[in-house]
Amino acid sequence: MQVSETRVRSILTRTSGYLRGVTSHSLQPYRGCSYGRSLCGVGCYVRHNGWLTRGAAWGSFLEARINAAEAYLEGVERERRWARRSRGGFAVFLSSSTDPFVPQERKLGVTRSVLEAMLVEPPDTLVLQTHSARVAEQRELVCALAERCSLRVHVSIESDVDRLPGLPPPASSVAERMAAARVLHDAGVFVVVTVSPLLPIRDPGRFFDRVAEAADAVVIDHFIGGDGTSDGSRTSRTGLPAAMAAVDPESPTLAYRDRIVAIARERLPGRVGVGPHGFAARYGDAPAERA
Ligand code: SF4
Repeated sequence: MQVSETRVRSILTRTSGYLRGVTSHSLQPYRGCSYGRSLCGVGCYVRHNGWLTRGAAWGSFLEARINAAEAYLEGVERERRWARRSRGGFAVFLSSSTDPFVPQERKLGVTRSVLEAMLVEPPDTLVLQTHSARVAEQRELVCALAERCSLRVHVSIESDVDRLPGLPPPASSVAERMAAARVLHDAGVFVVVTVSPLLPIRDPGRFFDRVAEAADAVVIDHFIGGDGTSDGSRTSRTGLPAAMAAVDPESPTLAYRDRIVAIARERLPGRVGVGPHGFAARYGDAPAERA
């Protein structure tokens, strides 16, 4: 893993595509992701973004944007004004092309410095999205921010099993992420488990019972329609669909998603979101969209 540092001119990116209906901005404290070679990295849509990877293998580099907090404070007033005028509110997704809580964050503290800057200049809404149980280490800061803005912590837990055949282990185990969600949930933070991308779930009833205790809501997103292509073709170029099919042949299809959504709705009535609607905090019983 090549770790480097850089300074950026701006840090708030106006959203487009999948995220456009979710938040007005995204914020990446890092370029690259240390979890790129773990389970989530296999189907990670960012690995296909040549502009971002600059030709390097996904998971082989991490560039820390060490002045991210400073850049946030410099741009926040202009971007807040624009977002309130054009998008109905200033909402930040942190993060969509890296993980805010990569292991190097403990030493570098880039995400932490951004969260501290947000205490001073809070967005209207903050979505903290992570695959890492390390988010719970920031409980105090997250709780303080929840007092200053509408905050949701999204913890990705795509399955109830840690391993798919032939694929690497996850960044944090299912049990660790479930425990982290619970810590924040019990501290009064609004927590969403994002089952994204949906992987085969061995015991869906039991899984969603656990989610119901650890989180306020759940979002289910299939790689078909969820990977930035309407037919999942980006993920189809990776080893993920075959590994999913080896466990459950139906799982690479939208019929599987619909079956899992139905079970989730039984266990968490009114607390289930699907696809981009779910990421935008619309948890209801509307039929799942077809890709
Ligand atoms: S943590 Fe997120 S950005 Fe990083 S590899 Fe996994 S899915 Fe991609």
